[in-house]
Amino acid sequence: MVKKSKQQKKDILQPRPPIVVVLGHVDSGKTSILDYIRKTHIAEKESGGITQHIGAYQVEYKEKLITFIDTPGHEAFSAMRSHGAKVADIAVLVVDACEGVKPQTKEAISYIKKVGIPALVALNKVDKVEAQQEKVKGALVKEGITVESMGGEAPCVEVSAKTGQGIEELLEIILLVGEMEGLKGDNEKLAEGVVIESCLDPKRGPTATLLIREGSLGIEDIVGTASAFGRIKTLENFQSKKIDRALPSYPVIVTGFKEVPEVGEKFYKRKSLDEARSYFEKKERKKTGEGEVLDIGPGKKVLNLVIKADVRGSLQAIQEILRVLPQDEVVLRILDSGVGEINESNVKLALASRGFVLGFRTKADSNALSLSERSGVKVLTFEVIYELAQGVRNLMQSLIKPEIVRKTLGRVEVLAIFRTEKTRQIIGGKVIFGEVKKGARIDVLRNGEKAGSGKLVQLQQNKKEVARVPQDQECGILFEGEVRIQEGDVLEIFEEEKTKYKL
Ligand code: GDP
Repeated sequence: MVKKSKQQKKDILQPRPPIVVVLGHVDSGKTSILDYIRKTHIAEKESGGITQHIGAYQVEYKEKLITFIDTPGHEAFSAMRSHGAKVADIAVLVVDACEGVKPQTKEAISYIKKVGIPALVALNKVDKVEAQQEKVKGALVKEGITVESMGGEAPCVEVSAKTGQGIEELLEIILLVGEMEGLKGDNEKLAEGVVIESCLDPKRGPTATLLIREGSLGIEDIVGTASAFGRIKTLENFQSKKIDRALPSYPVIVTGFKEVPEVGEKFYKRKSLDEARSYFEKKERKKTGEGEVLDIGPGKKVLNLVIKADVRGSLQAIQEILRVLPQDEVVLRILDSGVGEINESNVKLALASRGFVLGFRTKADSNALSLSERSGVKVLTFEVIYELAQGVRNLMQSLIKPEIVRKTLGRVEVLAIFRTEKTRQIIGGKVIFGEVKKGARIDVLRNGEKAGSGKLVQLQQNKKEVARVPQDQECGILFEGEVRIQEGDVLEIFEEEKTKYKL
């Protein structure tokens, strides 16, 4: 193959639509803004708009496309972050013009700074009389976001998802920022991107929404993630319309995966099914080969927990009750705790740390349940706080290997061998010390040294089956084991008891 020159390579790069994520505090109006844009600007409106929710869509504005990631509740977005997948090119930070900067606004800002993507501010709800745009802009400066009107870099648009005010301007600025970023894609590269949503469709099998970051994807292509792979059977755009090929920044719905891929994972187009399978198997091995629990210091184990509760007060009570549990043998580590239903990201976190998810007066949503079933992560729910504490004790106990204690019951001197089969022998002997018990274990001692071991399967006295035979009496024993017993051997009869560590 002839190598392409740098100039030729440059020509392959085509401008691509910006991928936008909308972030902000709960109730700031993220969903309302996305809904408004979808209703008013969806591309190819004539084909019926969006018939199902697919987690990403494209709008057309002034003949240019913009891709919006639309993941309700943003759990999917945090899953992508936890997988380290770069998803968006531009962030729209929605701030309620009445409420101002809130905890999740700060979280969003720190995320934007960490990944280093350009952000623009949408000051929402300016239709309300209580809106205080200037005050909110001032508060944003304190968080390190200075809007343009205050001499900074961040574009800021005053919008209302209720009246539609400023939405066109918002789209205009998104395109402008996209152009300044010089977003380009290489249509000829092997496609890669992120799994935005996935499900097991009862009719179509594993179905996933993929967002393409690089390259183009076509029907019959082979794609793989760390948890699933397959050959693309059907390829549709976000409006469920069949397409042959999709380009960078396009969200597509695909079927053909052998399993349901995990949300947030990166996907790659592969050259062959074998290549996809070997990547998948390598990742699977890594997932399952990491042992059970972390060791921290000699003899100490860690119990990782993700806790969800109905209200904040319950969480505090749970934390207090867990704090007093003895942690000499097992250390408790609460990876995350929060209020609300158990969701997929909670299960993912537990999966990544080989931990457990606990729910208190709450339940798991369907995505969390299906991931817990697929991955084997245990999700335990409780209604009573003391039962939760007991549940945690049990989990701690299950991490400690039980100690095995040997208890010698007695000794038998072998007087005769009656029958010898492959792994069984019937012998006659006399109890010279202690007693003999059916089902016990046996060490065969010859000249004071252990010659082998086995099990006491049956015990007889005077041709009758018995459970025990005391000292100084004779008995018949059916022995099972690899070693051949000889006359004159001594059998040490013992039991092994597992002693559980009690918390
Ligand atoms: P999210 O949690 O950030 O997605 O917020 P939502 O989009 O669910 O909006 C929260 C609430 O604010 C809802 O009751 C919306 O109707 C309301 N809301 C959103 N945008 C506006 C707006 O521009 N003006 C007014 N008056 N209300 C809005």
